[in-house]
Amino acid sequence: MSLLPRATVLTSNIVDNWRTLDALHPGATTAAVVKADAYGLGATKIGRALKVAGCSTFFVAYLDEGLTLRKAVGRGPRIFVLNGPMRGELAAYRDAELTAVLSSELHLKLWSTAARGTCAIHVDTGMNRLGLPIALVDTETTALRRLAPVLVMSHLACADEPKHPMNLRQRRAFEEVADAFPDTPASLANSAGCFLGKGFGFDLTRPGLALYGGSTPPAGVELKPGVVLEATVLSLFTGQKGTSVGYGATHALTEDRLLATCAIGYADGLPRAGSGKLKGWIDGVACPVAGRISMDLVTLDVTDGPKSVKPGSRVEFLGEHAKLEAQAAACGTLGYELLTGLGPRVQRNYR
Ligand SMILES: *Cc1c(COP(=O)(O)O)cnc(C)c1O
Repeated sequence: MSLLPRATVLTSNIVDNWRTLDALHPGATTAAVVKADAYGLGATKIGRALKVAGCSTFFVAYLDEGLTLRKAVGRGPRIFVLNGPMRGELAAYRDAELTAVLSSELHLKLWSTAARGTCAIHVDTGMNRLGLPIALVDTETTALRRLAPVLVMSHLACADEPKHPMNLRQRRAFEEVADAFPDTPASLANSAGCFLGKGFGFDLTRPGLALYGGSTPPAGVELKPGVVLEATVLSLFTGQKGTSVGYGATHALTEDRLLATCAIGYADGLPRAGSGKLKGWIDGVACPVAGRISMDLVTLDVTDGPKSVKPGSRVEFLGEHAKLEAQAAACGTLGYELLTGLGPRVQRNYR
């Protein structure tokens, strides 16, 4: 057994989450977004498991991610590359049968000069991030149709706020895009978009975070944790009354407290912003972080923890008890950032 922090990726839970999301939009294809190495959890293993479960459409951000995923899942599944191609990459797209998502006029120009493979068209319906200006859909409909896109898509800016007026505004705008390409499948929803109701499903949904157990599903939709992050207790000792814990001496002890220092820190992806706020669970009991999180270590106050705690105990920082979004909120961030921030030292295991 190693002292290194450990992330156990629960592949079967991720597959179950994909099925749960798939059931929300019967008739639509449910893709899987596995960019950034499947949000830090491992795109090769997760891609393979999802393919076996029947997922036939994947999204990555970069050509390199697409090439790696193609090796993992073989020919057959469609792989979209969200950030689109640059000059010099077109042959690689074609050879690996990757679908380029075209989102700028530069992309269109590039694509029109190439002996090309398949493409998708990303239209901006109000986020002002990536996507062709929606006006082009009117003025250049014929030229765009001539590219024979296999998908038209757009992205929601505020899907995680179900009542936000942007959602309906973007959906209405996207309906016009979809109407302009009556023979092309259309896609609008990310994870949170999948929870906005039937009108947001279109022909294909693109969940990422929810597959890995993140996001905030509505009542009645249960997602399972995609990963269990654990660290080992290195040292168990009494912190004396009148002393303090950790860098900056920010955490004063007004009485004797039982402390447990664990082998995990911000180098492993526990944000320093969670100092004094984050919790670790030992045998199902929550124990608060005492003082600052350091690079390789964090100290918990286990005075009210389980009697079973000892050096070598495993402490859960993400998992069944340590819920991803709650832990992220304690660090002032989101599940996205917590997952993709897991450090290279964290040992990934797959179950
Ligand atoms: C990352 C991304 C997704 C997936 O988003 P989640 O919120 O993780 O579900 C979908 N579509 C696009 C365009 C993305 O960039």
